[in-house]
Amino acid sequence: MKGFVVRVVLAVTRWRWIRWIFTRTRVGRRVSLRFVAGETLVEAIQVALEANEAGMPVSLNCLGEHVSDEASARASFDSYVAAIDAIGANGVDGNISVKLTQLGFVFDEGLCETLLGDLARRAAGAGTTLTIDMEDSTLTDGTLGMYERVQRANGNLGIALQAYLKRTPQDLARVAPLGGHIRLCKGAYDEPESIAFRSRRQVNDAYDALLEAVMAEEGLMPAIATHDDARVAAAVSAAEGRTAAYEFQMLYGIRVSLQEQIVADGLALRSYIPYGEAWYPYLTRRMAERPANLWFFIRALFGR
Ligand SMILES: Cc1cc2nc3c(=O)[nH]c(=O)nc-3n(C[C@H](O)[C@H](O)[C@H](O)COP(=O)(O)OP(=O)(O)OC[C@H]3O[C@@H](n4cnc5c(N)ncnc54)[C@H](O)[C@@H]3O)c2cc1C
Repeated sequence: MKGFVVRVVLAVTRWRWIRWIFTRTRVGRRVSLRFVAGETLVEAIQVALEANEAGMPVSLNCLGEHVSDEASARASFDSYVAAIDAIGANGVDGNISVKLTQLGFVFDEGLCETLLGDLARRAAGAGTTLTIDMEDSTLTDGTLGMYERVQRANGNLGIALQAYLKRTPQDLARVAPLGGHIRLCKGAYDEPESIAFRSRRQVNDAYDALLEAVMAEEGLMPAIATHDDARVAAAVSAAEGRTAAYEFQMLYGIRVSLQEQIVADGLALRSYIPYGEAWYPYLTRRMAERPANLWFFIRALFGR
């Protein structure tokens, strides 16, 4: 059922007039800003500093994906260089999160690897790290391979793994020896049943099993990326007896009171802060995760 709802919401948000309302009307943009820090790096840094003030380090994600030419890949690279520089210049406690398709992965893996390696070195120079977001399943193998190579060369990377993919326990075993941080999330794309768990219960069970596995790896920094109370509780319990650090990660604007509670409880929480002009695909995934967000939008549209 959830898969059906996800497909419907993703299909609806692809309609040109829906996209137009979100991106071109004042109310559409206002609703979107609930989930996105703004369209500029300056706005993102402001939000990042506020998060730091509230006790949360951040991960800055300059929105965009699937560029199809070298100039656009280099432009994405430049925007991340600017983000790393701004983290250093403003004393932000934060790192960056990058999608490989932003760096040209689908048309030139060599270019992507060069750019990613350069970003990793610049992040290291600024005393910080870089996380590779995980995109849809057509990219999983390539993303893992790229992570292995660039992490081996630099040592300051992390990667997101998706609990809904049936392959993920093997992927975790494959990347664990490399150290780094492992962001464990449920997964945000519409994947077929042949390779992915589709029911909420199956995904949650898979997530909890991965929590146990990742917490048992003292050489890894587990980043528990969920807004699900039961998964948060499972993480705390799986971490009992762990001597090394771990953290929670949550998306900007989602379950803010839970975020505050986790910080108040003395647990580490990183806020994932997306920003930039290309925010629409990000917004559609947040809608698909929680179709109630569409109602929030419709109510706002009619001023209620
Ligand atoms: C820091 C971070 C990084 C991520 N990186 C990736 C990635 O690289 N690749 C990837 O595929 N996915 C990524 N995701 C998304 C993730 O895979 C899930 O799609 C998303 O987090 C929703 O799952 P959940 O664990 O919060 O659980 P759910 O069961 O979906 O949600 C639990 C509760 O959280 C609240 N909630 C969840 N989502 C929303 C929303 N959109 N709007 C409002 N409330 C909501 C609701 O109250 C819901 O009941 C990331 C998530 C986080 C937090």
